[in-house]
Amino acid sequence: MPRLRPNAPMAFEVIAREPNAGASGEASALSGIGSEIEHLRGVIARLMHTTAHDPLTGLPTRSALLEQLEQELKRDASDGAEIAVLFVDLDNFKLVNDSLGHGSGDAVLCEMASRIIDCMGSEDIASRFGGDEMVILHSHASEHSGVALGNRILAAFVDPIVVSGKEVVVSASVGVARCKPGTKSAEQLLREADTALYAAKDRGRARLEQFNDELHARAEKRMQIESDLRAALRQSQLFVEYQPQVRLKDGCVVGVEALVRWRHPERGIIPPGDFIPVAEDCGLIVRIGREVLWNSCRQLAEWTKLVPGRPLAMTVNVSPRQVAEPGFIAEIREVLAETGIDPASLCLEVTESVMMSARQEVMGQLDEIRQLGVFIAIDDFGTEHSSLSRLRDMPAEVLKIDRSFIDGLSSEPGDTAIVSSILSLAYAMGKHTIAEGVEKREQAAMLLRMGCEVAQGYFFSRPVAAEQIAPMLTRSLWQPRSALELHGTHLTEGPVRRGHRYFIDEFLEHIGAPMGSKVAGPL
Ligand code: C2E
Ligand code: MG
Ligand code: MG
Repeated sequence: MPRLRPNAPMAFEVIAREPNAGASGEASALSGIGSEIEHLRGVIARLMHTTAHDPLTGLPTRSALLEQLEQELKRDASDGAEIAVLFVDLDNFKLVNDSLGHGSGDAVLCEMASRIIDCMGSEDIASRFGGDEMVILHSHASEHSGVALGNRILAAFVDPIVVSGKEVVVSASVGVARCKPGTKSAEQLLREADTALYAAKDRGRARLEQFNDELHARAEKRMQIESDLRAALRQSQLFVEYQPQVRLKDGCVVGVEALVRWRHPERGIIPPGDFIPVAEDCGLIVRIGREVLWNSCRQLAEWTKLVPGRPLAMTVNVSPRQVAEPGFIAEIREVLAETGIDPASLCLEVTESVMMSARQEVMGQLDEIRQLGVFIAIDDFGTEHSSLSRLRDMPAEVLKIDRSFIDGLSSEPGDTAIVSSILSLAYAMGKHTIAEGVEKREQAAMLLRMGCEVAQGYFFSRPVAAEQIAPMLTRSLWQPRSALELHGTHLTEGPVRRGHRYFIDEFLEHIGAPMGSKVAGPL
């Protein structure tokens, strides 16, 4: 059973003021009051239990654990015992909820609570902080006992959980932080354990991390970035560069990708990889994303005026948090209406990992965006384990082949096979393809031969300021040089492609996907 030491004493004051009643009447009135008090005592005890315990798992709530932790931090430290806090979070809980339903999700959480409790000592307290996040207060910790407890919890998740007769494999990640009484606040200790949990997730999940100096430095850096980023938004330090996307058969620029940058007053230009994850965590990504969307669509409207009648697509990276925002679709409608751009010239990029793990609501939002006529691309395609049946149902028309495969295109036979398979799959599913990170002429030529439609990369152009894009719109960024490069432009008939197509066609027939239904696209 979960343990929580009640520390709020219950006090009642009874004042009987009924002097007029007879002797026997007084006695019965008093005993009536007495039983009423007993009843109230029961109600209050039940209320205290309900408010202090999570109704699903029966574990103490966040506020109950916080209260207890604060008490422990005030205790006398002379016995040398420390206090450890462990954050435990399931790694794939959302998937369980999405695939098996919330009833099964609840059953997994109850089993999680029970397995955690089985690992604990008699003085430990487990609590449910919310969702699948549980926190353990290990109040009499030695140097290694917190980590030992965490490791027992990790081991407790090795065996699958049986839900409605089905075996579900869930792993957990654990973050541990500890301190001597009186040295830290409850809030700080919890934050440190949370930072350690975050690191455990970041370093591959299903593992434990203990808060240490390195994590401390990282957490400080993140906080610094977050506060600098708030200033950056106020002082318009963020700006957008554009990378051309080139139609391989003739070298025409048919689109551009908007990529955000940060001009930091002291640190110079900071690439998005250094601040987007922080912005994502603290929610600032919603404001950043909005700015990028407006700026790039306004820019597209200008270019469209400059070269009227020439189709040009603007692809904008969007983060999952942005898509999940309730006002996101309204915002897109507003951007389209105000800039007057053709919805089919806007393409939103969502990374493959997000697409594959997206909740139903996010998929619904993407579907609705699709209904507006805006295109959706799956970014960094090939880096995650896409389920083919999910891919088939996704509201995305464009696959962006990740740079890591293009790198080895001419040298690694494995990469060549992967790119070829992705192209075949895209063709069979009626999706467009854009290859990312093309740095060499051979790669461009090979992609053309393999039937890839569009590519971007340093070979054609690095991401550049808007003014540098304008002259590129009226010229060709490369010309396939020889018959060899041009050979197989219609590679749906080419030998490599045909081989893959045969395999993929068979496979898709097996899973029941529509085949070869090419959609009209912006590219
Ligand atoms: P991404 O969307 O996959 O963008 C492509 C990245 O590859 C860009 O890096 C681009 O500069 C780089 N790149 C393009 N061609 C080449 C090449 O030939 N060789 C090499 N080595 N790299 C190439 P960047 O600009 O640093 O962006 C990194 C990531 O940050 C983007 O990856 C995207 O996921 C994210 N990002 C950028 N802008 C935004 C934004 O406005 N919103 C959101 N949510 N994410 C953004
Ligand atoms: Mg992208
Ligand atoms: Mg990418």
